[in-house]
Amino acid sequence: MKSESEMTILVIDDEQNIREGSQRILSRMGYRVLTASNGQDGLGLVQAQRVSIVLLDLKMPGMDGMEVLTHIRLFDPEILVIVITGYATIETAIEAMKKGAYDFIPKPFEPDQLRIVINRARERLRLIDETRRLERERERNLADLGTEKSRIRTIVETLPNGVLVTNVEGRIALMNAAFRWLMEIDGEVSAGAPVESCITEAGMLQMIRDVSKGEERNGAADARYEFAVGEEKFLQAIAKPVLSESGECVGAVVNLTDITTMKLLDRLKNEFVAKVSHELRSPLSTIHEQLALVLRDMVEKESSRDQYLLSRAKEKTQGLISLIGDLLDLSHIEAGNVCKDRKPIQIAELLKNIVDFLGTKARGKRQRLELDLPPAPLPFIEADPMAIESIFGNLITNAIHYTPEEGEINVRVTLGPGDEPASGAATIEGAKSASSWLRVDVIDNGFGIEERHMENIFKRFYRVKNEKTRFITGTGLGLPIVKGLLDELGGRITVQSIPDHGSTFTVLLPVCRA
Ligand code: ADP
Repeated sequence: MKSESEMTILVIDDEQNIREGSQRILSRMGYRVLTASNGQDGLGLVQAQRVSIVLLDLKMPGMDGMEVLTHIRLFDPEILVIVITGYATIETAIEAMKKGAYDFIPKPFEPDQLRIVINRARERLRLIDETRRLERERERNLADLGTEKSRIRTIVETLPNGVLVTNVEGRIALMNAAFRWLMEIDGEVSAGAPVESCITEAGMLQMIRDVSKGEERNGAADARYEFAVGEEKFLQAIAKPVLSESGECVGAVVNLTDITTMKLLDRLKNEFVAKVSHELRSPLSTIHEQLALVLRDMVEKESSRDQYLLSRAKEKTQGLISLIGDLLDLSHIEAGNVCKDRKPIQIAELLKNIVDFLGTKARGKRQRLELDLPPAPLPFIEADPMAIESIFGNLITNAIHYTPEEGEINVRVTLGPGDEPASGAATIEGAKSASSWLRVDVIDNGFGIEERHMENIFKRFYRVKNEKTRFITGTGLGLPIVKGLLDELGGRITVQSIPDHGSTFTVLLPVCRA
């Protein structure tokens, strides 16, 4: 904002004493003052100099104030014109205001009156200046924003990963070149088109639609979907909701990565593990059997030290055989070679057999192992019986292992839909939820699992090590196998556990609809 000395006020009045009086007062206020005794001269000055305020007498000989006002407004509408008028011509003053004069001052006036009117005009000029400054700033910001926006667009467009942004209705807001290339989408994709117009992969479409609408998927912060394009290309899409400042979901952003190399490496690793395990299994089994034979024959003949060493060796080979068995099982699950032989099965019979078989082990520890079946006949589930045997075999064996002598193990079967086990303290594993499911709880009153281990027990080779579990042998592959099989079957598993009180592993299995 200009200071007073940088502002010029022009006084146009035919009365000399008004001109001189005003000039004196305004100069004292610090303004630069020009005067003109008639409209013509006044207009000349307005055009020649940068004038901010004009004090204009309306009643002048020659060109009258009203005409001068019209010319000033035409020349520069931003100049503030204050008309000077006698009491008798107050209507003319109002007329002048209608024509664009900013204010008026009646004649004769006191110095204070003039100061007030001028201060008001100055304040008005200050506000106009401020508004203009803000407007310039806004324009600059908009220009910056525009540049930023196009810069971000360029960056997103050149990203090696595929990026798709959708609105809440699942319409495309942005799709970069990598996304089109990875998904093998030909030609341009117009903004506003529904995702269905260029994506055909059903699972991915469903995920994008759900996340765009802000629907949480399996309680996870982001949703993932892996799929194959053609024979040898594997992609992974991760979708996250886009939230507005108020936390409302306004769409989704999908990041698409080519995971073909990872998949191939994984496949190679699986094949390698499977091959090595397979090669090791037969010689190890032979060693194990031979050790058993030697041990049987040496009764009382050899020293107890030798017997001890050989029986330790036999235990160790048994451990290795279990490990190899588990590794082969996991390799099969990961290669997608399990649960192929699905058929409708009655789980009650299967569970009875497993509980009978493991009953001997439980009795060895003087534990009570019981199976609770509902009175009504159970519906069929579509599964591979071998997978079901492996799932509950592992869970019940764990319950026996991690429960002290004389403990209790209960296998309880119930039927949904009811309330699914809440998350919270429980560790939710597995993916798809079933609307109508069969629930099997494997409940023990054993050692329990501390909260900090919960999220790890489904990871490969993870074993909880403490005073109570020290002497229990295992591979740390049982629960990963259970989870892998349940993922394949579309089931899920949750755990609730209190250290020193026991654990409950809950399995949900989708029942056959027909
Ligand atoms: P393993 O039993 O061979 O060690 P698992 O993958 O079956 O491997 O289990 C991983 C770990 O989870 C176990 O080492 C054990 O610490 C814990 N765990 C599993 N089931 C139970 C249970 N019923 N009670 C207490 N801890 C358990």
